[in-house]
Amino acid sequence: MRRSIALIGIGKIALDQHVPALVASPDWQLAATVSRSGTVAGVQSYTSFGEMLARNPDIDTVSLCMPPVPRFEYAHAALMAGRHVMLEKPPGASLAEVHALERLARNQGLTLFTTWHSRMAHAVAPAKAWLADTTITRAHITWREDVRKWHPGQTWVFQAGGMGVFDPGINALSILTEILPAPVHMRGAELTFPSNCQTPIAASLTFSGNVSADFDWRQQGPQTWDIAVETPKGQLYLRMGGNVLEIDGKVQAGENSIMGEYPALYARMAELVKTGASDVDLSPMIHVADALTLGIRTQTEAFHL
Ligand code: NAP
Repeated sequence: MRRSIALIGIGKIALDQHVPALVASPDWQLAATVSRSGTVAGVQSYTSFGEMLARNPDIDTVSLCMPPVPRFEYAHAALMAGRHVMLEKPPGASLAEVHALERLARNQGLTLFTTWHSRMAHAVAPAKAWLADTTITRAHITWREDVRKWHPGQTWVFQAGGMGVFDPGINALSILTEILPAPVHMRGAELTFPSNCQTPIAASLTFSGNVSADFDWRQQGPQTWDIAVETPKGQLYLRMGGNVLEIDGKVQAGENSIMGEYPALYARMAELVKTGASDVDLSPMIHVADALTLGIRTQTEAFHL
């Protein structure tokens, strides 16, 4: 039998990915939405989260799709009301607030899942398996996209807590922290802030272990979401945000589509709830926090979405 779930924050990612994944899910029934402006046809909608929780005791799970800054209050209220919680990435606006949610979920005997959709990309698991028994001599991430194309009108990305270019960059870091056989740590960062923004529009990162990253949100024309890893047994390339795996220039696995990621997240959430487990991993977000702590800052011209 499918479990009832409510989707909160009906914006771009909810409509692009969460709703299609839930409609096709064998595990979940989308039973309600909460949003101040968005709705989903055929699904009961609320503008008040408290009212949705009070009126639907049968909905035991909520999936939170709003931006990171407002998300904590919703997650806290849901856990206090006895609901399992699934968090969009990044799981919060700060590390400490996610630790607080993890403690609360444990005390309440509820599931908390900090999702990282890019880890569910088609080629991430085969890349991890290929790298498991080798040494990394060098790795470089290139994550360059056009913020105006992917985040139209989303001014929150340039406000404090919005993470700027780390909003997509954290997807690359979620893959990196999944596939490397040993962890790395931040050694230095160069961050570029538009004069009118509280968050960076570009970042160049240097990690231990000869690992580096280049994130830029001003890319026009072809968009790039690649990770190159050099090893003694050959060169691995993860392309298309982790969906296509190349070894020494030949495609080995994957599919050039992001549409498998959210169905896999919801299948994992169903398994976690069924087994009474949580999955909370903050390692990608620790790198972002460290970059913001260590980074040299330069200012560039004002940027408008
Ligand atoms: P969005 O469209 O700007 O926001 C989603 C919804 O959140 C809005 O429609 C809004 O709904 C609600 N919301 C916004 N501010 C709120 C507030 N202060 N309090 C309560 N609700 C608020 O953003 P998005 O692109 O969907 O991104 C949301 C999250 O998904 C982010 O963490 C992002 O990193 C992640 N994500 C986005 C993408 C993407 O392609 N955009 C991809 C993967 C993951 P109402 O105004 O109707 O309440």
